[in-house]
Amino acid sequence: MSKTLPVVGILGGGQLGKMLALAAHPWDLPIHMLDRSPDYPGGPVSTKFFTGDFNNYDDVVAFGQQADILTVEIEHVNTAALKTLKAAGKIVHPDPDILEIIKDKGLQKEFYKKNNLPTADFRLYKDLNDLKAAIDRAEVTYPFVQKSREAGYDGKGVVVIKDAEMIEQCLPGGCVIEPLVPIDKEIAVVVARNADGACQSFEPVEMQFHPTANLVELLFCPAALTAKQASKVSQLARQVIETYQLCGLLAVEFFLTKDGEWLINEVAPRPHNSGHHTINSCVTSQFEQHLRAILNWPLGDTTERQPAAMINLLGADGHTGPVAYEGMETCLGLADCHLHLYGKTQTRPFRKMGHATALADDIATAIEKVRTIKNTLKIVSHAQKES
Ligand code: ADP
Repeated sequence: MSKTLPVVGILGGGQLGKMLALAAHPWDLPIHMLDRSPDYPGGPVSTKFFTGDFNNYDDVVAFGQQADILTVEIEHVNTAALKTLKAAGKIVHPDPDILEIIKDKGLQKEFYKKNNLPTADFRLYKDLNDLKAAIDRAEVTYPFVQKSREAGYDGKGVVVIKDAEMIEQCLPGGCVIEPLVPIDKEIAVVVARNADGACQSFEPVEMQFHPTANLVELLFCPAALTAKQASKVSQLARQVIETYQLCGLLAVEFFLTKDGEWLINEVAPRPHNSGHHTINSCVTSQFEQHLRAILNWPLGDTTERQPAAMINLLGADGHTGPVAYEGMETCLGLADCHLHLYGKTQTRPFRKMGHATALADDIATAIEKVRTIKNTLKIVSHAQKES
């Protein structure tokens, strides 16, 4: 291993950490990871794995001391520890102050409002009683969307409340309330920025959601947008990363409303599900781009070589336990289809276990191929398979 390359420390050893480490391998860049178990996806591909809790101040400080540059694969980390490391001279991207804004949906919404960036109207409430009082005085009217301010991940902190009968489904704790936006399309743009201020975005992707699990199930790139729409949303994503002054990747999720208006939904300051296709379809992957950005190296070419579709591979319903894969060989027989299995040892219903990307000359064919993979590849558990 070259001693001249900086050690990159990643908080989190899940699939995003794994894919970052894989992108670092061709450069021989040392990747250290912190998470609760080396059995997590990042364990086998990291240069060094540290067992600990990225939410624990002491664990993060001890981990950070042996790295040169720190980054995250999840935003819910101990930011106080990252501030200590930054004050001690470590490079930390994304900056802990930005992470604190992004990980609280309420602060995120206030940030957009303050900076005149377009987002759905909103109000903040401190708990359920506070929200119910606002409903009573007709400050909040049905239907509305309620989002937990913190720890929302993959749709678990979001509910749509259509009428008074659904009030018991409201989430406890501090929340953001938004009107139900008439959404035409959900679009994401992954954009990168380095410390020199260079910015580069990937082409907009269009997301389709799983009907029950509320997870992105399928995405395709390029999105079905006019050239004018694509350029507008890319320019907005760039404006968002520049306003945050963030170094690294920022995935910006947008709603295109039925009136043709662009609204920022939320951002993630790290590689994102909506950029997974870039591994197979773009000159530079989002993972390589994140490393380039945090290291202040030249940003890579984001050109998409071919239209792509991507699906998340979820654990089969009714299966919990040690993982097994069925139908893999059939999928590998499909032309220009790429399986990425994360190596999680345990499956459970709807758990994200991997993703698949298909390339084709047109989007419709690429989507058809990922649908075939979805119907063919089953992620089950040994225990239930054998019984
Ligand atoms: P998460 O952090 O869980 O991904 P999001 O804020 O992205 O939460 O919301 C999840 C999904 O809920 C969105 O992708 C969208 O489909 C829907 N949603 C969120 N906010 C609204 C809204 N104001 N109006 C309509 N649908 C919404």
